[in-house]
Amino acid sequence: MIGLGFREHGGLDRVELVEVPDNEPAAGEVRIRLRAAAFNRLDRFVLAGIPGVPIERPHVLGSDGAGVVDAIGPGVNDLAVGDRVLLNPGLWDATCPACVAGLECLCRDYRIVGEHTQGTATESIVLPRRNVHRIPSSLTWEQAAAAPLVFQTAWRAIRTVGAVAPGETVAIIGAGGGVSTAAIQVARQAGARVVVVGRSLDKADACRRLGAEEVLLLTEEKPLDRTLWEWSGKRGIDLIFDSVGSPTVPRSVRSVARGGRLVVIGATAGPLVQIDLRTLFWRQASIRGSTMATSHEFDAVLAELVAGRLAAVVDRVFDWSDGRAALARMDAPDLFGKVVLRTPG
Ligand SMILES: [Zn+2]
Repeated sequence: MIGLGFREHGGLDRVELVEVPDNEPAAGEVRIRLRAAAFNRLDRFVLAGIPGVPIERPHVLGSDGAGVVDAIGPGVNDLAVGDRVLLNPGLWDATCPACVAGLECLCRDYRIVGEHTQGTATESIVLPRRNVHRIPSSLTWEQAAAAPLVFQTAWRAIRTVGAVAPGETVAIIGAGGGVSTAAIQVARQAGARVVVVGRSLDKADACRRLGAEEVLLLTEEKPLDRTLWEWSGKRGIDLIFDSVGSPTVPRSVRSVARGGRLVVIGATAGPLVQIDLRTLFWRQASIRGSTMATSHEFDAVLAELVAGRLAAVVDRVFDWSDGRAALARMDAPDLFGKVVLRTPG
């Protein structure tokens, strides 16, 4: 079958249609004929090459997807051919102590579809039964494909790792990407006061519609720490959700309230930072990393999506033939939400 991916690491010019083998589901596995895939920042890192992560080539991109069950392996009795499903892109071994304790995203063998395995921008994919979730027809293919990675990331980072409480302030650093559109909703639903900080106010109304109380503009004169310090009445922010990395994390540290938490879920603009530890101990603040979510957290997110209380923001849907343009769209200054690809299934 064909997939959208690459033979050699590099930039967007390396993206092409590649041939990968068809797969049959083994015991405990399910094959999904994909209807839609969605891209994440991760896909661009996979394309460029991630140090220490060997990637089989040719490689198919895409971690998120939704479609129809079209083959079932032995031992799977609770799904039927034709069921509408979405997939959880987190892969775990289900046997290590973390998995047994229900902390699957801390699995010693944790992997992500499309990074450590072939991805979803193709005709079909075989996954363990535990990664496949039935969805109602009220969720469109595009919404179903757009939600899983960013919403589970935002949910665990804000609710579990960030331990947000009603009435607390949450700052989302950066507006526009899929994960920030998910984080605004998750934080607001948890009863937090949400402030978004970005480099343009073009998306301010859209952020407010998702639940942001305020959208603040960053400038040369008023960088992140000064902006948040002023907005919070010199109190600082209870929980800061940062996926940007080196340009923002040192200023995020200076912006936390006493007892505040900085949760780092990515480093899209660079991984190395220098921070002032005196701020950390004096304010008794913490910095924690978070990635993906447990299966319990995933189930909670899915219930919210099915009920319509959370919804993926779809920036644009691209046809299968426009795969490279879909990946390029993630660089567009006016990006707001997820980039979705209609798959050939
Ligand atoms: Zn495990």
